[in-house]
Amino acid sequence: MTQKKLFGTNGVRGVINENMTVDLALRLGKAIGTVLGPGKIVVGRDARMGGEMFSRALSSGLLSTGCSVVDIGLAPTPTLQFFVSTEQPAAGVVVTASHNPPEFNGIKVIGSNGIEVSRTTENEIEACLLSETFRVASWTNIGSVYHDDRAINMHLEGIKSHVAVDEIREQKLTVVIDSGNSVGALVTPILMRDLGCKVVSLNSQIDGSFPGRPPEPSPENVKDLRRAMQSLKADLGIAHDGDADRATFVDENGSVVSGDQSFAIIASRIICRKPGSTLVTPVSSGRLIEEVVQRCGGKIDWTTVGSVDVSHRLEELGAELGGEENGGVFFPPHQSVRDGAMTSALIIEIMAKERKPLSGLVKELPTYYTTKRKIEVPREKKGQILNNLLSLTENIDRITIDGLKLIKENGWILIRPSGTEPIYRCFSEAPTQEESDRYCTEGIDLIETAINQS
Ligand code: MG
Repeated sequence: MTQKKLFGTNGVRGVINENMTVDLALRLGKAIGTVLGPGKIVVGRDARMGGEMFSRALSSGLLSTGCSVVDIGLAPTPTLQFFVSTEQPAAGVVVTASHNPPEFNGIKVIGSNGIEVSRTTENEIEACLLSETFRVASWTNIGSVYHDDRAINMHLEGIKSHVAVDEIREQKLTVVIDSGNSVGALVTPILMRDLGCKVVSLNSQIDGSFPGRPPEPSPENVKDLRRAMQSLKADLGIAHDGDADRATFVDENGSVVSGDQSFAIIASRIICRKPGSTLVTPVSSGRLIEEVVQRCGGKIDWTTVGSVDVSHRLEELGAELGGEENGGVFFPPHQSVRDGAMTSALIIEIMAKERKPLSGLVKELPTYYTTKRKIEVPREKKGQILNNLLSLTENIDRITIDGLKLIKENGWILIRPSGTEPIYRCFSEAPTQEESDRYCTEGIDLIETAINQS
């Protein structure tokens, strides 16, 4: 075990049987049981390869510390989180690598409130693992494994309690759901049928080789869904990422709605309901969400980038809504974490109540153009590159709360290292696509200069 940090932005992740090994899962189980036990620990997994192998190794580690394991099997991350927040065990653990490429898997630790544990707790788990100071239960106190199949139903009932079910049912909308061969297939199609929709499923067979499309529901990865929307004349297209905490929407014409836009459609309704409401979002979000919230007389609370930071801030402030530009929406009355199925229910509720097509809801939003690019960097130089970027831009108007946000005359450029992969991401925003693309190129050039200097 090298001394590098195990936990990234979203738990521990690595390539299956290379740096994400069964041995690491076992020791993580022992460390998690030592730090968060004793008591029951809920374990679940997405459809990825190695999911069963890792969850069994992890469970063995937990049992050896005297914790009991409640195994909910295959489930979206938000399903496990909802189950944990309802049942209040000592903790939860999900075997998932979310949207990462198929060869990745990982482990995410959930606190007893259903939210990913804090950085401090992650550091404690990591310190315990590295020092191997595991709690070892006596032979009479080894834990047991229980299987529980209630999580998905509880999650579905929870979501439905927050939307106008009858009004949605009346509209009899047609929904195409691309679950990307993962666990979203276990929840969202059932939810939409319960909401009276005609459901067409794409990539709904669970398969960790991801034969249908890569796990990230990006515009280029949802071409089949776009085609299906056009040929079926359906009302709403939904695509989830690997663990279904996020949803990408496609309108009735087959156009992909950006994460910023779907978040803004939901935010404009929820923040406007109560003047003075607070919305929590990372610095990577742009002017669209800022404008929508201002129009409603709401307040924005900016955070560092990472869903965990948004969740914890939502709880601290008791804020009304959270969201990210990647399509992650946090609806605290349900739970303060991203939830792809809840987000889908909120969108279809707006469509049904206002009797508008999704394209119509998008048209009402102010238009800004964004560009996203990424560049591979040597893993070991990630930190040095950021230092170089900071000294290269010392005299430019900028925000350094998380990564580097350069404020331009008509927009901005945000440069950040990925928390999980050896890449740097560059986002830009401007009033025209050309200008935004130009900003992004400027950002990529700057990263290249910083790489060459390291
Ligand atoms: Mg995810």
